[in-house]
Amino acid sequence: MIQIYNTLTKRKEEFLAPGSKIRMFVCGPTVYDYIHIGNARTFVVFDVIAKYLRYRGYGVNYIQNITDIDDRIIKRAQETGQNWKELSEKFEKIFLDNMKSLKVDSVDKYPRATDHIPEIIKQVRTLIEKGNAYLIEDDGYYFDLKTFPEYGKLSGRTSEMADDAVSRIDENSKKRDRGDFCLWKFSKEGEPSWPADFGAGRPGWHIEDTAITEKYFGPQYEIHGGGQDLIFPHHEAEIAQQESASGLKPFVKYWLHVGFLVNKGGKMSKSLGNFLTIEKALEKYSPEALRFYFLSAHYRSLLDYTEENLKQAEVAITRIAEFKNRLRFYDQNSKPINIDDVKEIEKMHDEIFEAMNDDFNTPKAIGVLFDLIHKINNLIDKNIDVSQLTPPIAALGLFDSVFGVVGGEVKIAKEVQKLIDEREVARKEGDFARADELREQIKNLGYEVEDTIYGPLVKKLHNAIVTN
Ligand code: AMP
Repeated sequence: MIQIYNTLTKRKEEFLAPGSKIRMFVCGPTVYDYIHIGNARTFVVFDVIAKYLRYRGYGVNYIQNITDIDDRIIKRAQETGQNWKELSEKFEKIFLDNMKSLKVDSVDKYPRATDHIPEIIKQVRTLIEKGNAYLIEDDGYYFDLKTFPEYGKLSGRTSEMADDAVSRIDENSKKRDRGDFCLWKFSKEGEPSWPADFGAGRPGWHIEDTAITEKYFGPQYEIHGGGQDLIFPHHEAEIAQQESASGLKPFVKYWLHVGFLVNKGGKMSKSLGNFLTIEKALEKYSPEALRFYFLSAHYRSLLDYTEENLKQAEVAITRIAEFKNRLRFYDQNSKPINIDDVKEIEKMHDEIFEAMNDDFNTPKAIGVLFDLIHKINNLIDKNIDVSQLTPPIAALGLFDSVFGVVGGEVKIAKEVQKLIDEREVARKEGDFARADELREQIKNLGYEVEDTIYGPLVKKLHNAIVTN
């Protein structure tokens, strides 16, 4: 049974039974700039969660919105003299390309805020009619927190503690309560605007998410996720909006939040300028290494950004790729495996899945995978036949299809391949001195050759980082 930590109840809870239909929504990017590896951590984590749930037989409908209208977009467009729509379209495309590069392919739909203006207007109207929203002349409609006494149930904070969370769009001295937030902002000259019967304008920060999920999921659904910075006020505001509009609770059953990726102790963020874009990261590291790095810490913990961590991830995924290649090798002369070893391997396989069932404990699952790799490699070294075992293949399947950390064949530089071919010729001609000499040259370039009856098996040396 899967256990999930729920931010709403602040404890691990038993998840729904396998086979259940899961509607899952994750806050997507605001497309005014390149996304960084901190954002990507959150998106990769939820990609793995969606894939794992599907792997376990849940029917997951996964939606992630694209915020393509927002203060930051308007500001950036004004600063750069671009049209806001062109700007957001450009960064949306880059974001989607980044997701493809990182093998994030579990999202069923990426709805844009601006394609859901009628739904947003409808929800604002409902909140006005129900008395949850009030008008500030020449400014917009605000959510009245006094009408929703449960405000704070997700974060444990109150509207009085909302100071640090008020964004530019929510500022107005005429608000009834300082935590009240904007639902609809009347447009000023030159700003993007959509007609509405209560006044032309644009959506507030929180309303697009609930309008979008109400359209695709209805007023209640199973999983809502995002980075931990969104707990307050964004997700708190979503609860206030949707539970007030529908009168139904809980709006969402399980709330999941991802810890920050931190750089020198501080949250990686666009505004602080301490970020690494996906493009830059992919110039140096493979997508598998980046994913491995994101999954090497528990999703609720902080994750440190250091070059060393990323290099280690590159080495680790090389070992996994080699393991995959090694598993395919089988020697006719090899000896049968004994039952104790089989049992031990089966136990490791089960532990990997138990770790994942325990609030998606990816670092633990990775730890057991490496124990398994060690074990199997030892057996192969002793010429014991492991080719008929299914648990290692199943474990590798999980790390491939869910974690996305199993690359293809080990990438070999052309110059190294040439030496390998030359060495094969020397071996076949019986020139073993030359073959040994070539093996040394290959080793100096960071690779090791193992001779098998099927030809040379090439491995990257673990202490060598080859970034070609
Ligand atoms: P934004 O485009 O700023 O709305 O962020 C998109 C997603 O990335 C949200 O779910 C954020 O919570 C998440 N996020 C932003 N910065 C970080 C970070 N440093 N570490 C982890 N997640 C982050």
